[in-house]
Amino acid sequence: MSGIAIVEVGPRDGYQGIGPFIPTERKIKLLERLAASGLTRIEIGSFVSASALPQMRDTAEVLAACARLPKVRPQVLVPSERRGRDAVEAGARCLVFVLSVSEAHNRNNVRRSPEESAEEYERLLAAIPADVAIRLDLATSFDCPFEGRIPEETTLALLDRLVKARPDAEVCLCDTTGRADPAHVGSLFAQARKAFPQAGGWALHAHDTYGLGLANVHAAYREGVRVFDASFAGLGGCPFAPGATGNVATEDVVWMFERMGVPTGIDLGALVAVAREGAALPGGLSGGRVRAALSAPAACAPMT
Ligand code: ZN
Repeated sequence: MSGIAIVEVGPRDGYQGIGPFIPTERKIKLLERLAASGLTRIEIGSFVSASALPQMRDTAEVLAACARLPKVRPQVLVPSERRGRDAVEAGARCLVFVLSVSEAHNRNNVRRSPEESAEEYERLLAAIPADVAIRLDLATSFDCPFEGRIPEETTLALLDRLVKARPDAEVCLCDTTGRADPAHVGSLFAQARKAFPQAGGWALHAHDTYGLGLANVHAAYREGVRVFDASFAGLGGCPFAPGATGNVATEDVVWMFERMGVPTGIDLGALVAVAREGAALPGGLSGGRVRAALSAPAACAPMT
C-alpha cells in the first residue's frame, strides 16, 4: 500500500504560541531527534515580525542548522512578499505562503483582505527563483474564530485565483480552529480536487480542539489526500481562537495509519520519545493520546 507523508509543524505552529523563548540550541536538538525518527518534511519556523512572534526570531539560524540534516526538507512560513524574499536570502528552498480565506482572520493576521494577500502571493512568485518550492496554506478554509463556518464556495473562489498563479504549488487546507467535521472536510476536498486537478498536491492541517483531529485526517485520506500536517506532542494552539488546543499529534497520526497498514516512514518509538520531551517544554500546551497510552505500564488488570 502506498504511504502518506507527514509535515511536522510543531517547530512552527507548536512553538509560536509558547511564551518562554526556547533556546536555539534546544530547537536544533529537537529537530535532529525529529529527523532521526524518520520525519523529512519539517516546518522549522516562520519569517514574521519578531515583535508579533518573538519565539520565531531565530528561524534563520534554525534553517542554517538544517544543512547538517541532509534528509530533512525544511519549509518556512511567510505571510508576505518581503518576508518571502528574506527567507530565500536566508537559504530557504521551500516557502509556505499563508493567507486566510476569512476576511476578518486575514485582517487580524496580516492587516490585508484575502484579495490583497493573493496579490501579495503573485508578487512573491514573481520575485523569487522559479526553483523555490511553494506551498499554499489556506487558513480558516473551514471555519473562522470571528466569522464561524466558511462557505465552501468562498474557499473554492479564492483557490481559483491562487492555483492559477502557481499550478504546481501544494495546497494545504487548514482547519485553524479545529471546528471542521469529517463531512465538511470530505466535501471540501472532494470539490477542490475535482475543480483543480492541476494543483501540485493536497494537504490537510488539522487541529484537535474538539477531538476531531484524527477523524478529519481520515476523512481527507478517504478523498485522496496523502499529506498531513501534525505537531509532535500535539503542541500548538491559535492565539486568535479562544480555547484552541494544538495540532493533531504526529504520534497519533502515525499510530492510526500504521494500524491501518498505511506506511508513514516514521519510527513511532523514536517519535514518542521526542514527543515526551516536547510535551515538557516550559509553557507548551500538549495534546494527543498515543504518547500517554504507550507510556502506561503493561496492563495489570482485566481490560474492558
Ligand atoms: Zn495551525
